[in-house]
Amino acid sequence: MYDRKLEQRASVSIIEDLKTVSWKVEPSTAAKNTRNFIREIVDNLDLKPNPDKSVIALSIGDPTIYGNLKAAAETIEAVRASLEQGLFNGYLPSTGHQDAKQAVAEYLSHNGSEINANDVILCSGCSSSLEHCITVLADGAKNHNILIPRPGFPIYRTLAEHIGVEARYYNLIPENNWEVDLHHLESQIDGNTAAIVLNNPSNPCGSNFSEEHLRNVLEIAYNNRIPVIADEIYENIVFPGEKFVSTASLNSGVPILICGGLAKRFLVPGWRLGWIVVHDEFGVFDEVRKSLNALSQRTIGSNTLIQGALPAILKNTPKSFYEFLNNTLARNAQVAFEKIQNAKGLTPFMPQGTMYMLVEIRMEKFPMFENGLAFAQKMMEEESVFCLPGECFAISGFLRIVITVPEDVINEACLRISEFCNRYYTM
Ligand SMILES: *Cc1c(COP(=O)(O)O)cnc(C)c1O
Repeated sequence: MYDRKLEQRASVSIIEDLKTVSWKVEPSTAAKNTRNFIREIVDNLDLKPNPDKSVIALSIGDPTIYGNLKAAAETIEAVRASLEQGLFNGYLPSTGHQDAKQAVAEYLSHNGSEINANDVILCSGCSSSLEHCITVLADGAKNHNILIPRPGFPIYRTLAEHIGVEARYYNLIPENNWEVDLHHLESQIDGNTAAIVLNNPSNPCGSNFSEEHLRNVLEIAYNNRIPVIADEIYENIVFPGEKFVSTASLNSGVPILICGGLAKRFLVPGWRLGWIVVHDEFGVFDEVRKSLNALSQRTIGSNTLIQGALPAILKNTPKSFYEFLNNTLARNAQVAFEKIQNAKGLTPFMPQGTMYMLVEIRMEKFPMFENGLAFAQKMMEEESVFCLPGECFAISGFLRIVITVPEDVINEACLRISEFCNRYYTM
């Protein structure tokens, strides 16, 4: 027989139990090992801008913020058409729609290598491409390590460490246009090295490797039989007179996973459309391909609306759009370079592409600042200009300047940076 009193008593005692028995819910090791190195550094700074000066953030690697760089009309139209067709609201194969993969293959074949649609896997942004590539090659349980550039984009380390893989730096040489220190690279390789990560053109260096240099790097990978993960998100974002060379075009014999996407060149980082291209001349990656397909099933693939638009985006975006972007960035780099050259105690490194410029702080001229972090913090406090300190990219004594902002903003920012330096520079 139903006894309401009994039930009430029972539920009260369950609640009492819940109160007394303590909960043990802890995030997993993988989650706890997931770190955002830029946030860790920036959140620890005391960033109080000068209330009398407008804030200029030369820190954010998002070209859309100021509205001076907009996606092409063709790019927008492609998404509108994809939406109105109504054909891209459902699930697609997790590696991507065949037409979208075909379009990526054709688009990237212009970089000098024949790419097949079946070599392409679409992902949720280039970050997700990188995650799949690192996860498929590197195994924490086998004590693997991957080699990553210093200075370099911190996400490689984030993605390695959360699966227990060691991220080991190889140096880039500032005075050689940030080329790879080949001896150092080779010295970092051991029997547990699972991949070399290359980022060309480079964030934060703004460098664009020559064909010869790329060949030298790939030769080391080949001789040691280590596959390469090539982060080419800035492919063809190079300044007039520069030529972008894709690792895939060199047929070096090295199996390469190329990562890229729409974010930077098409000025739509929020759309989260990236890709992996499997470049494999000798069938080394047969098993890796299968596993990449399996990994793509974890999230059932990337945004279908953008996949529907991808063929039109890649085919219809006019050359003039890319030229405008590269010319604008080149001009901004020139403006920033000239202004910062006149700032006492700073040495700018002229980029050949991308959206960034590195500036060396001759720290011995600024003894009042303990490091680049203190320098960046004080510059924000007095000039309301913020740049990411080199520490975000694993080197100290540098600042990274974002050059996507409008020219007058760059001008004003560099003027304030110069005044700041001239105020603190010590002979
Ligand atoms: C911006 C950036 C990415 C990430 O691109 P998303 O497509 O937005 O995930 C990857 N690598 C480098 C070097 C970048 O600067």
